[in-house]
Amino acid sequence: MRVSHLLNSIDDSLAAWLSARGQGAYRAKQIRQWLFARRAGDFQEMTDLGQALRSELAAEFALWTMSVVRHTQAEDGTEKLLLGLADGGQIECVLLRDEVRRTICISTQVGCGMGCVFCASGLDGLERNLTRGEILEQILRLQRLLKAEERLSHIVVMGMGEPLANLDNLLPALEEASREDGLGISARRITISTVGLPKPMRRLAEAGARYRLAVSLHAPNEAIRRQIVPVGEKVSLAEILAEADHYFDLSGRQLTFEYVLLAGINDGAEHAHELARLLGRRTALVNVIPFNPVSGLPYRTPSSAAQQTFRHILEDHGLAVRFRHKKGDAIDAACGQLRRRTLQQISPVGT
Ligand code: SF4
Repeated sequence: MRVSHLLNSIDDSLAAWLSARGQGAYRAKQIRQWLFARRAGDFQEMTDLGQALRSELAAEFALWTMSVVRHTQAEDGTEKLLLGLADGGQIECVLLRDEVRRTICISTQVGCGMGCVFCASGLDGLERNLTRGEILEQILRLQRLLKAEERLSHIVVMGMGEPLANLDNLLPALEEASREDGLGISARRITISTVGLPKPMRRLAEAGARYRLAVSLHAPNEAIRRQIVPVGEKVSLAEILAEADHYFDLSGRQLTFEYVLLAGINDGAEHAHELARLLGRRTALVNVIPFNPVSGLPYRTPSSAAQQTFRHILEDHGLAVRFRHKKGDAIDAACGQLRRRTLQQISPVGT
């Protein structure tokens, strides 16, 4: 019999499966509770289900479909999982500890088709979308790394892949994360990052604009954007900003614009002025990420002086600016780096 991933079915279809076996609707609630609140790792731990039902569930469903290829921990509390998928692909997800916050960063695709030139995840192109269950499994596996007294507080969808290219599977997974009888993480603590795909941005807005949106600009003008974000050839900055504004109008939530700072490419004072003019009077946070060196890529981290100048110019224009901590550097926490390093070790470049 083909075993299916329980986390792909943890909605009406599990209830229907239980009902076909004469089990009451409360059984589905018990299973949800074991998974989300009690952090069960195995059907056998679900001791308020009868032994026969636990065995039937185990015969029909797999609770986990991935294996941990590597688990790395940094001194600052950051933990990163490199997960192996059933079909041989690999993805990454990260747990970040910052005072009382417990933030996780998850992936939505194996590889990425957007091809941003500075990104390890996009170097090998897109393999496939992750299923809803595989997205949810990352969340639950990271939750299981927490101590009993710790609680997940935030989710950022900024790992491997372009989240808006896989909305069909991402949205149901986030629904589970935000439901009261799921993980109960408020939608305003969930951030979805996009390179700027106008149609899916519209769909996300029409689906209720519940989540925070972070739009990766990385460039203050079309010429630089085309150079470093190939998808920019098809979509103008004006279109992206119009969709971002529409999302903001519906959600009323502050927008975030991401900007990877690359030495000698987009880190000059003139670029900061141009970016500030582009964003105008929007209520926005500019999240600046000084480039994190990736082996095999020719880009460099801007000097501290260049970073300071960039920040001050944006602030002088009245923008809210945050330079992202480089938490977890020692464990390759930038998206795609751990996977790439591991694959290179298995199959060194050039062979
Ligand atoms: S930065 Fe994001 S969108 Fe761009 S290639 Fe990497 S994972 Fe894909």
